[in-house]
Amino acid sequence: MDQNAFMELNVEIMKPIRFYFALISGKLSIVLLKLLRKRATNFPGSVVLTLCPDFLKFIGKPEKMIAVTGTNGKTTVSNMLNDILKDNGYDCTNNNFGGNVDTGISAALLKDCTLTGKAKKKYGVLEIDERSAARIYPYVKPDILVVTNLTRDSYRRNAHVEYIFDILDSNIPDKTHLILNADDLISSSLKKNNKRTYFAMQPIEGEQPTVNIVRDITVCPLCGSPLKYDYLHYNHIGRAHCSRCSFCSPRADIEVISAAPTGNGHSDIKLMNNGTEESYNVPCEAVINLYNATAVITALRTFGLSEEQLRKSFKKIAVVKTRYDITEENGRTLRCIMAKGQNPVACSHTLGIARNSPNSAVILLWDDFYDRRETSENTAWYYDVDFELLVNDNIKQIIVAGKRSPDLLLRLLIAGIPEEKIRITEHEDDAAALLELGGIKNIYIFFDMYVDRYKDSLKEKIKEMMKNADRSAIS
Ligand SMILES: [Zn+2]
Repeated sequence: MDQNAFMELNVEIMKPIRFYFALISGKLSIVLLKLLRKRATNFPGSVVLTLCPDFLKFIGKPEKMIAVTGTNGKTTVSNMLNDILKDNGYDCTNNNFGGNVDTGISAALLKDCTLTGKAKKKYGVLEIDERSAARIYPYVKPDILVVTNLTRDSYRRNAHVEYIFDILDSNIPDKTHLILNADDLISSSLKKNNKRTYFAMQPIEGEQPTVNIVRDITVCPLCGSPLKYDYLHYNHIGRAHCSRCSFCSPRADIEVISAAPTGNGHSDIKLMNNGTEESYNVPCEAVINLYNATAVITALRTFGLSEEQLRKSFKKIAVVKTRYDITEENGRTLRCIMAKGQNPVACSHTLGIARNSPNSAVILLWDDFYDRRETSENTAWYYDVDFELLVNDNIKQIIVAGKRSPDLLLRLLIAGIPEEKIRITEHEDDAAALLELGGIKNIYIFFDMYVDRYKDSLKEKIKEMMKNADRSAIS
């Protein structure tokens, strides 16, 4: 018996009493939540970790696990992986009902284990928060780990991108096969000695590349000389080489060579998989989501699914639009678009949606509901979001609501937006009253993930206004 097998056997024998106590309490909390008809949450995970802090060490895990981490796209990628695997007969334990930190992972494994703590399902797809790596990877060792990308995010919690890189680099298990974005010079350098498969995307016909304020890597990590980009999709995502030494983006194993929208939110993509052409119709259009679909294809081809299996399943899965809702009323369109606040890359992407939309009004609900309880909330991220995208004649009004509205007003003025277009209020509920529908055809509500309640009431009010507004006033 080799040493690893011996140790595993030992752990099997030596599971402490506190583990079983936590397991039974956790299972009871699941039953209780069901009886109370509460939605499944992280709560059972918090219960087990309180009673047994090293619960993840002892709980049974699926034999084969795919995990997803990275700043943007984790949830989208995990959901697609789950849907496609399920469609092909793989029943997976997953944490898409709850959180991606240790409590969420514990809750997911707890839900799908027997009363003695053995995993019931053979496969697992887990979304894992980058910052939680040190608490998860020592015990949960994915066979395949997708890293979507790394960019700056939630500054107070995550500090800077190098800090997150180091956390991942020192905690991802050595045996995990990595699926990495070759167009991201930061995450593509993770765990240099691990087995890896790279994906990338060539420039897309008709794409409008955005030159963003934030670029999280600008110089060669080897010699410090400026990087030159062969192409750039957004922020620092693109193909680059050093202006002085031989450093360059890694060569992709799977590379998208063309993408074209086919209507209804889908796109036909062609890619080269180690020299062989493959084609798929994927349920997304925006570049950021095409990357997510490519990450999914790369992970599942590595997992062992065929081109045909993927192609069939993509047809059945829903268009990526979970955070996007559209209401049409009396000739006007209202779009509510969620972006994670304090994440300048995601927020800039959403602003890009309104960028060229005619006769538009934009409402910003970008206060972090939890952070703003402390007056010392960090507003640095406002200066990393590309508000300059709104400097455009088609954007007629900008309404900012929330306690931080004076900060956002300052930022919008610095971006060069004329003051007469901007209205602010500290109370989200008053935002609708500041909107003037005359001449406005498209209304956008951009909101942070924790201010749903304000968004919902604002949406109802604006819908009512749209119903009663004069149609002829739409120019
Ligand atoms: Zn160099």
